[in-house]
Amino acid sequence: MALIRHLIDGTETGETARTGAVYDPATGEQQHEVVLGSRADVERAIAAARAALPGWRATSLTKRADVLFRLRHLLTERRDDLAAIVTSEHGKVLSDAAGEIGRGLENVEFASGLINQLKGEFSEQVSTGIDVHSVKQPVGVVACITPFNFPVMVPLWMVASAIACGNTVVLKPSEKDPSASVFLAKLFLEAGLPAGVLNVVHGDKEAVDTLLDSPDVSAVSFVGSTPIARSIYQRASASGKRVQALGGAKNHMVVLEDADIESAADAAVSAAYGSAGERCMAVSVLVAVGDVGDRLVPAIERRLGDLAIGAGTDAASEMGPLITREHRDKVASYVTGAAAEGATVVVDGTTKQFDGDGFFIGVSLVDDVKPGMRVYDDEIFGPVLSVVRVDTFDEAIALVNANQYGNGTAIFTRDGGAARQYEFEVEVGMVGVNVPIPVPVGAYSFGGWKGSLFGDSHIYGPESFHFYTRSKVVTTRWPDPVQSSIQLAFPGNS
Ligand code: NAD
Repeated sequence: MALIRHLIDGTETGETARTGAVYDPATGEQQHEVVLGSRADVERAIAAARAALPGWRATSLTKRADVLFRLRHLLTERRDDLAAIVTSEHGKVLSDAAGEIGRGLENVEFASGLINQLKGEFSEQVSTGIDVHSVKQPVGVVACITPFNFPVMVPLWMVASAIACGNTVVLKPSEKDPSASVFLAKLFLEAGLPAGVLNVVHGDKEAVDTLLDSPDVSAVSFVGSTPIARSIYQRASASGKRVQALGGAKNHMVVLEDADIESAADAAVSAAYGSAGERCMAVSVLVAVGDVGDRLVPAIERRLGDLAIGAGTDAASEMGPLITREHRDKVASYVTGAAAEGATVVVDGTTKQFDGDGFFIGVSLVDDVKPGMRVYDDEIFGPVLSVVRVDTFDEAIALVNANQYGNGTAIFTRDGGAARQYEFEVEVGMVGVNVPIPVPVGAYSFGGWKGSLFGDSHIYGPESFHFYTRSKVVTTRWPDPVQSSIQLAFPGNS
């Protein structure tokens, strides 16, 4: 059984007393141990990042871009190896693991255009003989804390832009699938990133709290569940850090009566059950307007019997297991409890039998769901699709806007006016029109509203260059033929 260790200052290290188990979700067996960083481990990583900062922030933009170009090449070359690591610890099917690496590559590509993003402004002659320019400088050491469900893509959301801006990083990945981050950090080293610029520490609350409380950490990027995102935001911003903390989701797909029901059913099945529903942009609520439910629910039900559920390494599998046994049991409890809450369980995935001890569960479809039921109110993060039936378009918008989350949403219709009205009124950060999972491409930033994001900066894309830099404005006068004189009055412009 391998021991997964930290990568600090370019070296794998860590013999701490505390370790955690890393499972193969497809077999249910423990396959590795991961060190759980102590306060001292994390402080060493922060010190390494701090020591690397002066050299990295002085590295030219061209050289920083070179590292990202080489990383892109290496990631493409080693994509299958990395996907295999993701599948073995997370459980998602290999094609899905390769897909998340592809989306992460977009962030590397965007960040490699850093010279465009780090341009300042210049105003000549703002006052007689005086010019002003602004520059964007790195914030310092950035802590990146990531969830289990995208062990490559989410670290790349953060790290690519953070280092492009000249910062150094301590990455704390999920302890449930930690190997991908170490692999990624080694690729960065191979791409020419100096040791200490990107450090990986594993761990749990102790490691995270050390990052949040350290005076040497200037900014925190977090992605995870809403209760933890909220507490991270409060704790880190209380000590003056810049924080973006992305939280959980309950994404609604609204289907209007004029929509093409067969393609809406395909989209709903793909977006609800892909990656076993363990995606922050998964569709978990279908809002059926008017008579849509009577047509759409049977169309979805017909498709569910054919889904192939099995080990992610099996090319025939379309959906793999959940991340842990506890999570699988929690997901099942929402389905088994739904009937007592007054909902109709159309397809019950909890009764599906699987060979072996893997953390598998079948897919579930629950109709007649209403706000106030646990199955609606909580983020389930599993292969469970709830259907809420409403009479009108306005009721659909009111339902989505009343939800505590606001990550993603989609509307399915042929009516451009209705789609435009939905986009205008809906209180959600990312909207799809006939697109079920509207994750923005790398040139736009990603982020939700309400309980899905604490802080005011979205992640990756242009907003990340704003988040990971501080601006400085320089006012300049060079000696000229104008006579100087003493002026005690507050400087005015002439
Ligand atoms: P999580 O909140 O349990 O863990 C996220 C990170 O926080 C991990 O690194 C974990 O070690 C750390 N952590 C856990 N408990 C902590 C505590 N008490 N104190 C300090 N740190 C702690 O989330 P998860 O289960 O790994 O990931 C799934 C969640 O992430 C879902 O809610 C999902 O919606 C969300 N998510 C959101 C987005 C987004 O972009 N909004 C993207 C991916 C995942």
